Amino acid sequence: GTTIPAQTNDSDLAATFATDDKPIPKEESSLLNKILNEKLNSLNEGIVEISKQQLDPASPLYSNQTFESLRLKQPLIDALYQMGFQQPSKIQEAALPLLLCEPPQDMIAQAQSGTGKTATFLLTMLNRLDPEKKFPQCICLAPTYELARQIGEVAKKMAKNMPEIQIRYAIKGENVSRGMPIAEQIVIGTPGKMLDWVVKFRLIDPSKIICFVLDEADIMISQQGYQDQSIRLHNQIIAAAPNCQCMLFSATFSEAVFNFANQMISDPVIITVRRQDQTLPNIKQYFVRCRDRSDKYRAISNLYCSLTIASSIIFCYTRSSATWLANQLRATGRDVALLHGDMAVMERAQAVEDFKNGKYKVMITTNVCARGLDIPQVALIVNYDPPVTFEEHPQPDYDTYLHRIGRTGRFGKPGIAVNLADSDITMSFVKSFETYFGRPIEPLDDRDMDQLD
Ligand code: ADP
Repeated sequence: GTTIPAQTNDSDLAATFATDDKPIPKEESSLLNKILNEKLNSLNEGIVEISKQQLDPASPLYSNQTFESLRLKQPLIDALYQMGFQQPSKIQEAALPLLLCEPPQDMIAQAQSGTGKTATFLLTMLNRLDPEKKFPQCICLAPTYELARQIGEVAKKMAKNMPEIQIRYAIKGENVSRGMPIAEQIVIGTPGKMLDWVVKFRLIDPSKIICFVLDEADIMISQQGYQDQSIRLHNQIIAAAPNCQCMLFSATFSEAVFNFANQMISDPVIITVRRQDQTLPNIKQYFVRCRDRSDKYRAISNLYCSLTIASSIIFCYTRSSATWLANQLRATGRDVALLHGDMAVMERAQAVEDFKNGKYKVMITTNVCARGLDIPQVALIVNYDPPVTFEEHPQPDYDTYLHRIGRTGRFGKPGIAVNLADSDITMSFVKSFETYFGRPIEPLDDRDMDQLD
């Protein structure tokens, strides 16, 4: 069996917890998070801070409850309702009145992914541009091809009732012919390509730009060259169009991001939205003690029916065990989505999309690969292997545990977390989670799934 004796030495432990998977690059997590966050998680979560003292929280600019009370054009409001948006999110409520007022206000906004930043700047662009004019008026920079596309897809939905509005992508594979100026009002793309179109090929007239957006600033600065290209492009635009409105968005706000922002935006309003601290509210936590790996497989097969009642995620330690588990389940006719660090970008995006859309009720992924992903709200989380950090010794990874488990159990219904422990050491980790969070993790007899109801 695989039961680890009490006196295991470190190299054995290292072998037990050696993962063969790799984390998803930051820019790609960002894309996958966008797909996962398809519906805003919780509109009213989060606390907004606005940096400028003169902004009186009592002023009508500060808070708006409805899209009607924001100064949005009616076709946009109609499109928002058609998209299922019912009221502005915190960041939209705080930012849009400032972004839409005259004179245009520059802004730096920081909020976790899925809080409504993209919608915020797209609404600003769509509201400000003149659909009758057939030339670029709004530029948006994004760190990857896929993210640019993702933003464009949302823009198209929002512009649904404004058929004159066209969108163009300045991304790899998009070709332009010299001397054929671009007619689309919104151009979304990566910094290098955009710089070419504006400066080298002169297909976009910088003096006509009224909105300049830099999205995902934190990821942008981690990409070689993007920072310089963005600043050069921004300088070109500002020189030609001094009144152009500049907005910079970021999920995190490090000193590097702040310095970058400062090079472009001198006197901005700074808005930050913090999600309320995660807790373990209504989560029932269980463990199943398994003798070994094959016993663990038996446990997961027994759980499978419960897993598919609503969406669930299974976390494995290695890519090979995640793949093995997925293949085993598929071989017995049970559909699962698989996500690991060795898949191509589009494969991963597809897996996440399929899970998000409910094509698959179960997603199997690895601890490492899922780091940086905003785990969506699911009813059931299975730690096939516990979250562990491995520095000198394997340690229970409390943050990751909380991040995962804390995502279940919203909407009033209790969420469920099941830990499978197939060795003494994994069992000791389960005990550590119990002690650390001060919440019971109870034994579950996986042959008697009624306990999960
Ligand atoms: P971010 O850019 O901060 O990651 P997005 O603007 O992409 O966030 O929004 C996250 C998800 O929530 C998207 O699927 C978007 O369509 C949706 N969303 C945004 N604003 C609202 C809103 N006011 N009401 C409902 N859903 C919204």
